[in-house]
Amino acid sequence: MKCADDIDVREVEENFINIDPIQAAGRLTADAMKAIIAYGDGYSVCDNCLKPFRLDYIKKPPLAAFHADLASWLEMAEARVVPGARRGFQAVAQTYVDKGDPVILSSLGHYTEFIAVEQAGGEPFEVPKEESGIIRQDAVAETIENAAKKSGKTPVLMFMDHVDYQYGNLHDIRAIAKIAHQYDIPVLCNGAYTVGTMPVSGKDLGVDFIVGSGHKSMASPAPSGVIAATDERAGEVFRTTKAKGNVTGRTFGIKEVEMMGCTLMGATVMGMMASFPHVKERVKHWDKEIENASFVLEALLSIDGTTVVSEYPRRHTLTRINTLESFDIVARTHKKRGFFLSKELKKRGITGVIPGSTRVWKYNTYGINRTQAEHVAGAFREIAEENGLEVR
Ligand SMILES: *Cc1c(COP(=O)(O)O)cnc(C)c1O
Repeated sequence: MKCADDIDVREVEENFINIDPIQAAGRLTADAMKAIIAYGDGYSVCDNCLKPFRLDYIKKPPLAAFHADLASWLEMAEARVVPGARRGFQAVAQTYVDKGDPVILSSLGHYTEFIAVEQAGGEPFEVPKEESGIIRQDAVAETIENAAKKSGKTPVLMFMDHVDYQYGNLHDIRAIAKIAHQYDIPVLCNGAYTVGTMPVSGKDLGVDFIVGSGHKSMASPAPSGVIAATDERAGEVFRTTKAKGNVTGRTFGIKEVEMMGCTLMGATVMGMMASFPHVKERVKHWDKEIENASFVLEALLSIDGTTVVSEYPRRHTLTRINTLESFDIVARTHKKRGFFLSKELKKRGITGVIPGSTRVWKYNTYGINRTQAEHVAGAFREIAEENGLEVR
């Protein structure tokens, strides 16, 4: 089936259980699908944009209320929608970082945080992880001291990943932020893997900013995301333009500099908004997600030689495992080499494991139900058994 001439329809979520690390929690709800069709035309949400002409003031469709809901849901003062978490990082970096300024990041931090710092001319200082793959507050204090010594300035900003993309480990943001605040360093909590999947409260975490990814964790189309700020910081990152045309003398009202005036003006924000009630509900059932993730992991660990690289027991559905001594042994002699695993999974209706990977790899069980978790668990065990691996 085709969408157009040479564009095939995508039939992944319809036909498979998808355990792709980055796709699992961005899968659309049916309501989002309806909304993106209804609001697919260009600047569709601007039909009723009235003075003062800004996205977050539009009442019909209820974008103003959506912005207020996003902020209160994250227990922060203000929120804006952005085209991806990365644009939230960019807005904050552009606000606080000048050339040569030291910036603290996690050694498990995402590349988009580093690029945001680079764009602003800052110098990154990474907080080393413990061997277990956890960022501890002692290492944070030490990194701040080292950065200050090395650059002669106190770091101006800290990015810290709530759940990192490498291990899916949950880091103690509250304790880490406390340390940073002793040095008056604003803290951005990167919730790309947490906002929209598990409960997140900016107040509890004690951070200045929370950034989330719509297309990764809020059942939304790409590119979408959210940035929320405390009252104190909102005035800084959401400052309004002071630009003035030198010929025309024009000024530009209350358009926000870091938001380039308006951000998501059509299908993206409408998809996000349509999914939002479902997202608010689903984070309340995080315990079920962890149960399913653990169920699948236990099946993998029952295959002799398999170890989990992520923290254990699991506190997130994104998990990194090591199958060098199990599936990779099979791959060494299999005629399909490492591709046997993804092929066998596909045969059983499971997708999202990178074709060819049998060594150290990640998967994400977010959003699958118990029956599907049982099927995935059974599939791994069956594939192992069929290929001569010991399954306990
Ligand atoms: C995916 C990811 C991002 C990027 O999110 P976008 O919304 O695509 O910009 C940033 N940080 C982490 C930890 C991620 O996993």
